[in-house]
Amino acid sequence: MSLTLLCPRWCLLFSERFDSKNGCFAPQVLAAKDTVVGIQDDEIVYVGPELNVPQLNWTRVDLPDHILMPGLVNAHVHSAMTLLRGIADDVPLETWLQDHIWPREGAHVSDDFVFDGTLLAAYEMLKGGTTCCNEAYFFPSAAVRAFDKAGMRAAIGSPILDFPTRYAASPDEYIHRALELNDALQDQPLFKHVLFPHAPYTVSDAVFEKIVMFGNELGLPIHTHLQETANEVAQSQSRFQKSPTQRLAELGVISEQFTAVHSVHADPTDIAMLAHAGASVVHCPSSNMKLGSGAAPIEKMRAAGINVGLGTDGAASNNRLDMWQEMSHAALLASVTSANAGAIPAGDILYMATMGGAKALGWEDEIGAIEVGKQADLIAVNLADLSLQPVYDPLSHLVYSCGREHVTHVWVAGRACVRDGQMLTLDEQDVRRRARVWQGQLQ
Ligand SMILES: [Zn+2]
Repeated sequence: MSLTLLCPRWCLLFSERFDSKNGCFAPQVLAAKDTVVGIQDDEIVYVGPELNVPQLNWTRVDLPDHILMPGLVNAHVHSAMTLLRGIADDVPLETWLQDHIWPREGAHVSDDFVFDGTLLAAYEMLKGGTTCCNEAYFFPSAAVRAFDKAGMRAAIGSPILDFPTRYAASPDEYIHRALELNDALQDQPLFKHVLFPHAPYTVSDAVFEKIVMFGNELGLPIHTHLQETANEVAQSQSRFQKSPTQRLAELGVISEQFTAVHSVHADPTDIAMLAHAGASVVHCPSSNMKLGSGAAPIEKMRAAGINVGLGTDGAASNNRLDMWQEMSHAALLASVTSANAGAIPAGDILYMATMGGAKALGWEDEIGAIEVGKQADLIAVNLADLSLQPVYDPLSHLVYSCGREHVTHVWVAGRACVRDGQMLTLDEQDVRRRARVWQGQLQ
């Protein structure tokens, strides 16, 4: 049995307050002082004052200038696309996909590509304080092997499309491979399985109906890119005379287990449909800004009661798998689009980047907050750096001033993956060598 006592200067804790403006409970986020956290093996077993800690044989970790917080949850990423980082920038989504990304994926994506690309992504995410991600890419079992090597938690999406790729030749083969992966992921506590139909414009009604059937039968969440661009909505209106959200709602796709990625062009009717079903939305502000897709109406979604998580999207469209940048961009973009400074307060942004993502993945009982009984997915952020002085409000610093360079310690299920800024689970030289081999083949 392993017992560790983490003694930080501040500890990021969540509770709930009643939001009288919107008539619902909203997160109350607190940087608590004089609070220590005890970990036994993979689980948090104590949160409270040091005076009351049970007398056990703890290994004590002093974090005198640090804030201890839940690990960041990257709720939407295509990890292996790190190998395509920067290969085609400054073009809109359709051109980017059709002229640059899909031809290269068609020529190169394989089990090895996904393993090496996911290893690179896992290194970047873990070292920067992301302890869990929601992965969506081809050859997902290769991603599982890479996350397992890194010691990182991940929800693994099985991709499903109408058209053939190097991964599968037909919708039935994608679904068959998803069912195989579902069996392989049973009893693996760091992983869970998600169905990932790519988007309404690449998946037909008949295939969505099969996905709903298997999703219901196996109790699996369904995630998809939805209403990312104005063009996608216009094409759906002309082809189906309805928005993509309405089409998916009529096909039975949208439920409490459903997560819409992006929803940049969601109108009030789409928002009401998602809210009514209890669905989640993943906001990827950097990717949306970079591809010129627009700004998702996040404040309206949150006011309607929709759970919102944050994601980086793939490194080809961002180009960083950096949740600190997503937090800052989410806060700034909301202020710009609503002409309201602090439209989403720092505490709410921190909640979205942790609990919001955990809820979108159906993992809210296990991760996303520092609570007794939850998994010890934790990070320590050192606020002693001169770029962070003085420290009046740690919550504001975490959103507006801190970066991944301030993350010093990372634990996933109680296992130390980063200590004093040093990666413990992956070899930096090995990961760099693999990336450079692919660079030679892809350019
Ligand atoms: Zn995406």
